[in-house]
Amino acid sequence: MKRPIRKSNSDALAIKGVLDKLSIDDLNIKGKRVFIRVDFNVPFDDNLRITDDSRIRSAMPTINYAIDEGARVILASHLGRPKGKPDPRYSLAPVAKRLQRLLDKDVIFAPDCIGPQVEGLISRMKDGDVILLENLRYHAEEEKNDEEFSKNLAHLADFFVNDAFGAAHRAHASTVGIAKILPSAAGFLMKKEIEYLKGVVDNPIRPFAAILGGAKVSGKIGVLEHLEDKVDKVLVGGGMAFTFIKAMGYEVGESLVEADMIETAQRIRKKLKNAGIKFYLPVDCVISQTLEPGAETKIVPTLEIPKGWKALDIGPATVKLFSEALENTKTILWNGPMGVFEIDAFSRGTFSIAQAVADAYALTIVGGGDTDLAVHRAGVSNAISFISTGGGASLQLLEGRELPGLAALTDKALEKT
Ligand code: AMP
Repeated sequence: MKRPIRKSNSDALAIKGVLDKLSIDDLNIKGKRVFIRVDFNVPFDDNLRITDDSRIRSAMPTINYAIDEGARVILASHLGRPKGKPDPRYSLAPVAKRLQRLLDKDVIFAPDCIGPQVEGLISRMKDGDVILLENLRYHAEEEKNDEEFSKNLAHLADFFVNDAFGAAHRAHASTVGIAKILPSAAGFLMKKEIEYLKGVVDNPIRPFAAILGGAKVSGKIGVLEHLEDKVDKVLVGGGMAFTFIKAMGYEVGESLVEADMIETAQRIRKKLKNAGIKFYLPVDCVISQTLEPGAETKIVPTLEIPKGWKALDIGPATVKLFSEALENTKTILWNGPMGVFEIDAFSRGTFSIAQAVADAYALTIVGGGDTDLAVHRAGVSNAISFISTGGGASLQLLEGRELPGLAALTDKALEKT
């Protein structure tokens, strides 16, 4: 039975209907066993203490909904790279404890993710109970999308829900194999990611600016090409800027340049220019001879980087230029840091742009991975409209490529609930 669509924040953005797959609220899950693939791949310190539980928190709307609807909630995730066999360093046991505290409710922890013992635990569950299965990657078959392993996972449940956006770019047994066997739907996090990274980006409120940074042009070329008929402005910072500047015939000292990307950079810049898209590059930068913390640094115009020095951050004039360029925008997408922000001396540019994005009167979307870390370190994450939880997956979506974990879910038109 299909329920009426709920009002959500995203309804106001006119991005309803972007997801052409079933979502969890299309399923009648009362009393049913629902296998929810989550991304609980959280960071730990040396004493196996969770240092950041935001990935667990991001799955809470879906988990709470399933509990409230009276489903028997089976949660499964990968954690780290245990190389296909049990390894206590990658156990999800500490995650079960944290989840219990966040839900304020008992969470059963299963010692494996398949097999008779797990089936026994699940058969004793009551409506609204929650079980967390042990790390899926204790089995090498998970990453191989093995058919038999997928069947064993599917055997545990009546429905499959994928809420692990961060793993949706991988075709594994728990993201693709199982989805081909069970009626499958997206969780709320997955839905929101698609609505923002696809819905907003494909149909932005204009002017729409994309800020791209990070190490290499080659890593962002797909995004640039996919966005070229959607954006009004492109602002390029980070290491990737210097391949563009070199392509314009200027010397950039020892700054990062991808020789095999120079022609591509030139072609893209011309194409954007011909399409009337404003293309901004750094006008000044913070340079150093080494990446060593404490090494001597200078601020110079981009066209005056001396031999033997490399640009490791955008400078204050660029921050001003970029901030002004962002001021009159209505939608901003940001992916990739403006400099080597991991080192204090080269972090100012990235943090200032984080502040400018946070201050803009615009719908702001931040890609996952490094940029997510940067806005958190800059202390402005609460002022960003949407921060993606997936690095690789968000990049793949921004390149206009299909996500296997999403493609495998049941089409809306084929509802079989
Ligand atoms: P990406 O994964 O391509 O988004 O690249 C992120 C990495 O780019 C970060 O670890 C930064 O330290 C690095 N990065 C940013 N700007 C520069 C730069 N100017 N030179 C070298 N590396 C940079």
